[in-house]
Amino acid sequence: MRVASWFAICIASVSCALTPPCHSQQTFKAGNAVAAPGTKATGFLEVPAGSDAATKVPVVVIQGEKPGPVLTLASGSHGTEYASILAVEQLIEKLDPKQISGTVILLPLINTASFEQKVPHLNPVDGKSMNRFYPGQPDGTQTERASAVITHEVVEKSDYLIDFHGGDLDENLRPYAYWSPIGNAKQDAMSRGMVEAFGLDTIILVKERPKDPNAARYLDNCASLRGKPAIAVEAGYAGTSDPSDIALLVDGTLNVMRYLKMLPGNAPSIEHPAWIEKIHEVSSSETGIFYPLVKRGNYVAAGAKLGYITDYFGKVILEPHAPAAGVVLYVCAVPSMKKGDTVAFVGQIAAQAP
Ligand SMILES: [Zn+2]
Repeated sequence: MRVASWFAICIASVSCALTPPCHSQQTFKAGNAVAAPGTKATGFLEVPAGSDAATKVPVVVIQGEKPGPVLTLASGSHGTEYASILAVEQLIEKLDPKQISGTVILLPLINTASFEQKVPHLNPVDGKSMNRFYPGQPDGTQTERASAVITHEVVEKSDYLIDFHGGDLDENLRPYAYWSPIGNAKQDAMSRGMVEAFGLDTIILVKERPKDPNAARYLDNCASLRGKPAIAVEAGYAGTSDPSDIALLVDGTLNVMRYLKMLPGNAPSIEHPAWIEKIHEVSSSETGIFYPLVKRGNYVAAGAKLGYITDYFGKVILEPHAPAAGVVLYVCAVPSMKKGDTVAFVGQIAAQAP
């Protein structure tokens, strides 16, 4: 995959001399960030105006001195999942092109409007989640146009991708990763190696995902369906940027880069992660005030009370229970609760590794 990718980049570039070694002075471009070998470049993915306003997504390209694969690190499609955004910000500084074999594309903050306006979950410009509309549409609303630009300018130029998330402003989340096999043994072995090298101790095995590359929905799925091994990782919760959560994401990324031979050194993988075979999403059938009785990361028995919801006069109107035994992947972090909102995700642990 690496060789093929380098060849493709060389072919695509006008500045490339067709005599080998083609990659020796090859620049790498994403949006208007153009990095020569051994350098970092910053710029933007320009998203033109359409039915709503134009926007631009910050992008960093770090091209190593030595050739190798292209890895994308994308964060902030939910702009108030702060720990994940700060982790990618740290990686901009930490990654040294002199050490790297290959190229890293970093998107530290996809949803700038969410970040600036402190709006969780959605892009406030069009009210859409920026991790649900891949591969995007050039004539759609801002989220769809931005997704289309990211697919074209970043995903299609990548060999591997990691999408970073965390608990949003209203989510008390414990760290976990997603592994989403697509049914291609070679690619699935590579993405599994990535998720195990990342090292988070709880991994969700995703069995059902869209299979149509033109309706991929999620960024990691958009990459996977284009033949690029991809994972998603989550750490951080409820508006915090705890250094230990940031460190999990930074250290995990560096270890994946060792696994991909983009950085020197051994890449130990997590030995006995808890594999989550099913997520039980518990939602509220009532609107009211939520009082949690469990914490993120707690293990609960089937039927355990997760909390209670009162009306605005203090009368208990609902007591949500865990539908199965498992780990509380996240629980609502705020008292605001409206009908249909998520109370908690309870992850059912697989008896054995997949
Ligand atoms: Zn997210």
